[in-house]
Amino acid sequence: MSRDYDVIILGSGPAGFSCAMQSAKFEKKALIIEANESYLGGTWINTGTVPSKALRETAGSIHRYTAQFGDEGRKPYERFRMRDVLRYKDRVLETQNSEIKDSLIKNEVDTALGFGRIVDPHTVEVTREDGTKKRFTADHILISTGATSQKPKEFEIDHVTVLDNRSILDIHYIPKRLVIVGTNIQAMEFATVFSALGTRVTVLSGHRSYMEFLDEEIREEFTRILEESRVSIFNRKKVLQVGPNPLRNCTEVKFQDKDTGDMHVVETELVLYFGDRKPNSGKIGLDELGLKTDKKGFISVDKNFQTAIPSIYAAGDVIGHPGLASVSFSQGRTASCHMFGITRFDTESAIPYGIYTIPEISSVGLTEDEARQQFSDVTVGKAYYRNLTKANIARTPRGMLKLVFETESLRLLGVHIVGNGACDLIHTGQAVLNFKGTARYFLDTVHNYPTYAEAYRVAAFNGINHMHKSGASYTSILGEEGG
Ligand SMILES: Cc1cc2nc3c(=O)[nH]c(=O)nc-3n(C[C@H](O)[C@H](O)[C@H](O)COP(=O)(O)OP(=O)(O)OC[C@H]3O[C@@H](n4cnc5c(N)ncnc54)[C@H](O)[C@@H]3O)c2cc1C
Repeated sequence: MSRDYDVIILGSGPAGFSCAMQSAKFEKKALIIEANESYLGGTWINTGTVPSKALRETAGSIHRYTAQFGDEGRKPYERFRMRDVLRYKDRVLETQNSEIKDSLIKNEVDTALGFGRIVDPHTVEVTREDGTKKRFTADHILISTGATSQKPKEFEIDHVTVLDNRSILDIHYIPKRLVIVGTNIQAMEFATVFSALGTRVTVLSGHRSYMEFLDEEIREEFTRILEESRVSIFNRKKVLQVGPNPLRNCTEVKFQDKDTGDMHVVETELVLYFGDRKPNSGKIGLDELGLKTDKKGFISVDKNFQTAIPSIYAAGDVIGHPGLASVSFSQGRTASCHMFGITRFDTESAIPYGIYTIPEISSVGLTEDEARQQFSDVTVGKAYYRNLTKANIARTPRGMLKLVFETESLRLLGVHIVGNGACDLIHTGQAVLNFKGTARYFLDTVHNYPTYAEAYRVAAFNGINHMHKSGASYTSILGEEGG
């Protein structure tokens, strides 16, 4: 039976975009349906990844400039204007938006604007904002509708003094004080971005700690960096009320300690709220199809991103963890490969995590604790940025790179970095890890000098020095039999 398309994709974020592009390369006919009638690219280009990173880029430049040339006794918010910072971000978005359109046109991917709902395993109905409806059929359907931040129950996001990840991108001035409610990755990214702009940042978290998935030493180093930047973090706090205090001309945030019940108030100019991300899986026809989600609404898929209905796939934030554009790209592509019978694509390899705080944090593979639980003998090697010529030249002395490897074989198990360039640097470690390489690679390879990448060599030597101190001879470690 002939259908309109080979694949219909709901949502034009990274999962949908990469599925469409890969399908087009396979010479398949693809249609992207996008509910937002103003722009393509989803959270990725318009409200999440790209704009927040463009904002970070300018804050990072200001931070480096201040570190290298001094602050003339003035705070960044007295020297730089938010208008210029946002203009930079807007230019980046313009380029990215036109690039996505051009790529879809060049690869002959069709687009239809409107809200998509799956009517049966091969049919999608699209409803436009003006109420008009149209149906399309396809052999395969990909759900890549993303996720949206949940709203707070205790107070309103008015987008004037209480903001979310969208409205923070449109503020007209750099605030002197900012309270961030939430401790997910994005909350920590914005905390360091505004701190770099001179803002006094307070983070109120409901959890016991933040970013607990990180290697413990990396988290400790990052905590020291936050302390130096005067970012205050209060854990186990519940925000009860946010409102204006006209007498003191500020906004007040009232919060309670979850353990002691003590009440506190903090004064601020702006509040930035990050709620949990809720999948956009309602109203798209899943119940009628009998397609299951978990309790939070995330769609269940197998390793090929196929749902229980063989013609329907799902990828990206709508399927849950880890909720990253980087991973969504790969998932959308894998789904397309599976739809069209290309099974050689390997998705089992270690996924890197990139956290765009200032400075960045990135990791791949096992943390030291995880490695010690799984392997009987583990060695750790560390390099501190303060000992790297590059960091000295760039005045970026804070940071460390940590290698975790199995002692006997020297096989690399994990790489963890906090410091400038971490999100780029990690890929050397990722390649060695995925090719099942050893720490010897870093010892035997010439690294450009001066670079941050040199930290790999320094950390590898640090690791084998520990082994030497524990009784192993250098010749046995570095000779043929070692690794
Ligand atoms: C502030 C912030 C910063 C971030 N920074 C990073 C980062 O630095 N690195 C990183 O890797 N990730 C980052 N992320 C996460 C990243 O943005 C998401 O993981 C990624 O965008 C998810 O891609 P997706 O394709 O699943 O969905 P999305 O990008 O959310 O796109 C989904 C699209 O589907 C559309 N849609 C929804 N319902 C329908 C429907 N029924 N019919 C048709 N269309 C529909 C939506 O309008 C939207 O355009 C960040 C997120 C936020 C919020």
